[in-house]
Amino acid sequence: MSDMRLVVVGAAGRMGRALVRAVTETPGAVLVAAVERDGSDSLDRDAGELAGVGPLGVAITADAAAAFGKGEAVLDFTAPQASLQFAALAARAGIAHIIGTTGWAAGEDAPLHEAARSVALVKSGNMSLGVNLLAALVKKAARALDEDFDIEVLEMHHKHKVDAPSGTALLLGQAAADGRDIDLEARSVRSRDGITGARTAGDIGFATLRGGSVIGEHSVIFAGEGERIELIHRAEDRQLFAKGAVKAALWARKQGPGFYSMADVLGLND
Ligand code: NAP
Repeated sequence: MSDMRLVVVGAAGRMGRALVRAVTETPGAVLVAAVERDGSDSLDRDAGELAGVGPLGVAITADAAAAFGKGEAVLDFTAPQASLQFAALAARAGIAHIIGTTGWAAGEDAPLHEAARSVALVKSGNMSLGVNLLAALVKKAARALDEDFDIEVLEMHHKHKVDAPSGTALLLGQAAADGRDIDLEARSVRSRDGITGARTAGDIGFATLRGGSVIGEHSVIFAGEGERIELIHRAEDRQLFAKGAVKAALWARKQGPGFYSMADVLGLND
């Protein structure tokens, strides 16, 4: 089979550059286009040079429709409003869409399900094997431990991150809620300040730390009377998310239209 033709959007961003590197390092994948928004300083620059892997002969363009016409899948770690536009374009071009973008408001991603009726769409708040395995463990622990164990999700990220809690923290909270068969939206406590009153049994709490260059650390704490279980993941290199996204694209090549998660890609739902 010929190399899979991939397009990276947000190619000048932290993850965009990591994606360009990951594509060049993955056998069976080739970068055919790279996109940034109109007016970006990086337009016309070589995507490989910007990513530190040397020239690839792929100039960054603002013409996403033309870029998608050359590809078989688009790798997208940008922002929710941008990802919604890219989903419509990817559906029109008939190519797979791999979305790592986080910071979605409740219900904001609904149009993605429409796009997934015509193409394979993989969306995950975390594309690493480790976190997806952690989510499976969290679900299992939440199912085994009753409401006497309070669940808290703690995360820390670099100072540039714009959304909170992280997409990964929400993914882990969702895994805990699934394990307990409860509605995360209704039972989550996103912040605490002042006289909050005592903790309600069964709630899932979130706490956010921001600073420095931390790539991503997540702990899920099950706090009981006299004992505490902590499940922790530490990301040491953002390249692992990028590699996961390329893996998802290669996997999506063999799938029909549908809305998939990274757990599907990694076979953790089997
Ligand atoms: P970043 O450095 O700010 O990069 C985002 C890039 O997307 C920027 O270059 C931005 O351009 C570009 N962009 C935004 N809107 C665009 C549009 N309409 N058209 C084209 N390009 C557009 O952020 P980052 O650290 O790479 O993170 C990006 C996203 O990935 C965040 O949501 C983050 O939480 C998520 N993330 C997910 C995972 C995962 O495994 N799922 C892992 C790490 C990060 P401008 O600078 O011009 O706005």
